[in-house]
Amino acid sequence: MEEKHREGLMEEKRLFFPPAGFSSNAVIQNPEIYELGQDRTKFWGEQGKRLDWFKPWDKVLEWDRPFAKWYAGGKINAAYNCLDRHLNGARRNKAALIFEGELGDRRVLTYQDLHREVSQFANVLKSYGVEKGDRVTIYMPMIPETVIAMLACARIGAPHIVVFGGFSYEALRDRVLDAQAKVIVTSDGSYRRGNIIPLKENVDQALRTVTCVEKVIVVQRTGQPVEMQEERDVWYHEVIKNVSLVSPAEHMDADDMLFILYTSGTTGKPKGIVHTVGGYMVGVSTTHEWVFDLKDEDVYWCTADVGWITGHSYLVYGPLSNGATILMYEGAPDYPEKDRYWEIVEKYKVTILYTAPTAIRTFMKWGESYPLGRDLSSLRLLGSVGEPINPDAWMWYHKHIGEERCPIVDTWWQTETGMIMMTPVPGITPLKAGSCTIPFPGVHIDIVSPLGNAVPKGESGYLVVRGPWPAMLKTIYGDDKRYEDTYWRQFEGVYFTGDEAKWDDDGYFWVIGRVDDVINVSGHRIGTAEVESALVDHPLVAEAACVGRTHEVKGQAVFAFVSLKEGILIHDELIAELKAHVVLKIGALARPDDIFLTDELPKTRSGKIMRRLLKDIAEGRAMGDTSTLADAAVIDFLKKNINIEK
Ligand code: ATP
Ligand code: MG
Repeated sequence: MEEKHREGLMEEKRLFFPPAGFSSNAVIQNPEIYELGQDRTKFWGEQGKRLDWFKPWDKVLEWDRPFAKWYAGGKINAAYNCLDRHLNGARRNKAALIFEGELGDRRVLTYQDLHREVSQFANVLKSYGVEKGDRVTIYMPMIPETVIAMLACARIGAPHIVVFGGFSYEALRDRVLDAQAKVIVTSDGSYRRGNIIPLKENVDQALRTVTCVEKVIVVQRTGQPVEMQEERDVWYHEVIKNVSLVSPAEHMDADDMLFILYTSGTTGKPKGIVHTVGGYMVGVSTTHEWVFDLKDEDVYWCTADVGWITGHSYLVYGPLSNGATILMYEGAPDYPEKDRYWEIVEKYKVTILYTAPTAIRTFMKWGESYPLGRDLSSLRLLGSVGEPINPDAWMWYHKHIGEERCPIVDTWWQTETGMIMMTPVPGITPLKAGSCTIPFPGVHIDIVSPLGNAVPKGESGYLVVRGPWPAMLKTIYGDDKRYEDTYWRQFEGVYFTGDEAKWDDDGYFWVIGRVDDVINVSGHRIGTAEVESALVDHPLVAEAACVGRTHEVKGQAVFAFVSLKEGILIHDELIAELKAHVVLKIGALARPDDIFLTDELPKTRSGKIMRRLLKDIAEGRAMGDTSTLADAAVIDFLKKNINIEK
């Protein structure tokens, strides 16, 4: 079928410039960095110097497509760069980590504190026979010990596999087995909306048929009774007692593995993504400082769970390598009230907030009275990641959270890319609501046609990365072939992201959806983000998800799932009104044939809409893999209430 890429909603022309005073104080003030970034190896060679190396690299890049070795020959340690090198000067006593528990308890660890705890825990791991290269699974709540465990692994060169604490025992077991972990670090339980999730119990279940795990180290968090298996299970607070504070950081090859992380599972079965030490650390350190315009006095809050790549790169490794003060919050945004985030911003005078569109749309749904009731004047920069942010949600974030004062950095990247790839650099890049703007300096991104040719400005196509970048994945764990097939085979010589995007006449990028999700109506490719943004643009709509449903004449027809803002009364003409709104915003082609109203949409545990399951429903067929689904009840409700005749 002929593929036509269309014009559409994503033509927002308005530019938002940084407020007076922001640019002149920004870390990056000179747009020249974009030109400097053209010379990939020179640029990243310069940035490599921001870290401490035990031995300098021989070569910035060895590129044997699709396998890259960044900083080849260099010796480095990630934990050393996050901790030890901050201990000589004024940062020694600076807060590294401010922790806020769901129940309101609080802990502050200075860089020195964190260094001590990490060193001790590194020694504990070693005492259980964990050596360089051995894998350690971390299945924990959002508490300081989670960061401590990650850095302790990094210190001794044992790759960690953080598994999100909201995952079931099956999901945990699959990941433990795939990585053949030797040790698991967990906690008795974790708080969630006032309830307790039994993490240790899940570990016990997961390990029933697993033989590779020799030790389970349990942090006491909730205090509920748990079964401790003799020999195998030990308490963190007991084994950490009287352990030496001295722990030399392992001299790692730049190309050694730092961690494995499984993708979110939005499109299918998660893949074990392998990241290495040197390139990853340079990539996340540079992007964190420049994208978030980091200053020493900032209080930086990334709301992502450490179980996701955002938690790895921009809660732990990026910020700590830059000596930032990070805020870590354990619980839910609506516990005990729907203003919990804003209470935290007010309490700690957070200056930088990095969150996800799903959260922003939820706040919109709840209404602006919650942020209005709190003092948000400390905020100076906002960030977004995870999904396309609908222009309407962008404007709401800008107005009600940023008080029209804070630039918004919409950052496009993936578990695989390790670091932010497209984003504004806030002091120099004008913003557009709903666009992730342009590639980060030193990153080369293109949009290509099905044949792999670059498409001209104003058109859409497949999003690819040309050539290597420092934080790129090394491979898929244990499967080099799958790595090559998944990312490097669709288009000759370039990395394929799996996303579709459009670039506008100014060269700004607009991600319009995942390739598998794009809807093909009468040969026209319609981006899910585009139709969803048109729906969210309607004043009554909080959130929308669109999928294509097989249609005899058109090939596919748009099927939309819509959730309304809180307290909206549904009237008879509403559906027709919503359809008309899409026609008005995009055109008749995008008019949904069906609109179904629902309170909730099915999402991954990281909060992304799972369109492939909605598609299964719209097509009236059996469900695919649901292991990464956050709430199964949503799907049950939809299945029960939508009857598709086949
Ligand atoms: P899986 O690969 O297992 O299906 P996933 O792709 O959701 O899961 P992640 O690596 O967490 O796993 O997400 C990366 C994807 O998220 C990107 O490919 C893109 O589709 C989407 N994404 C992330 N940030 C943005 C953004 N700022 N704008 C638009 N899309 C984004
Ligand atoms: Mg993906």
